[in-house]
Amino acid sequence: MDELKRQTLNMQIHDILFHLVDWVLPPSCPGCGLEGEIICNECESKIVRLVGKQCTFCGQAVRGSNICGDCRDRSHSYDAYRGYGLYTGVLREAILRLKYQNDVGIARILSQYLENVVLSSNWVFDMVVPVPLSLQKYEERGYNQASRLAKPLAVHLGKFYRPEAITRIRETSSQVGLDIQARLENVRNAFRADPKIVNGKSILLVDDVFTTGATLESAASELKIAGAKHVYALTLAKSRRNVKFFE
Ligand SMILES: [Zn+2]
Ligand SMILES: [Zn+2]
Repeated sequence: MDELKRQTLNMQIHDILFHLVDWVLPPSCPGCGLEGEIICNECESKIVRLVGKQCTFCGQAVRGSNICGDCRDRSHSYDAYRGYGLYTGVLREAILRLKYQNDVGIARILSQYLENVVLSSNWVFDMVVPVPLSLQKYEERGYNQASRLAKPLAVHLGKFYRPEAITRIRETSSQVGLDIQARLENVRNAFRADPKIVNGKSILLVDDVFTTGATLESAASELKIAGAKHVYALTLAKSRRNVKFFE
């Protein structure tokens, strides 16, 4: 059996198990608590989507130029960035559930949101790679929420899922409260990409939240050093910081 088929079969078994769990323990909407819904239609309709003309590197709404004032003076290792919605309301609650409760139902819905973003882009890539979690957080939680999104996404898009393409090689301190420069410094050289996997390939790099983009930048830079041709950065949510025109 080839690898893509195995990947799909694996996900189908996962889906069957998921429906069983769903039947025994019905979900409730993280936005309003409605039972029987993973994310109810009403809460979903309130998600602030990142749509319209956006900055290529941060998703900020722009008029005229394709690059916003904040990104113009910065170098970027990834070729483009897109996100699904603002990190607020039900999208934020859903991500917190994904992060701290390992909610597989939520992961399925959220990965569909990501799929819609990818299908509306013109990105061509060979593999889907999640941004690795810090070693300490991985030990605390036992799983990486970015992989929970990236794996079903890869299966639905019929692409290889390659979490081993990039690993954390250095522990970083919390990014909370740091500005972009401090964050870039904090995550510099935190990753190592495997040239055997990424050399000459185009990569879809997936994470849950974009705050300043420093983590994506650091991971993308290592992927490029290892020979990646293109790196496209995708997150489910973008934090409210510096968001001027979406509301
Ligand atoms: Zn709801
Ligand atoms: Zn920008």
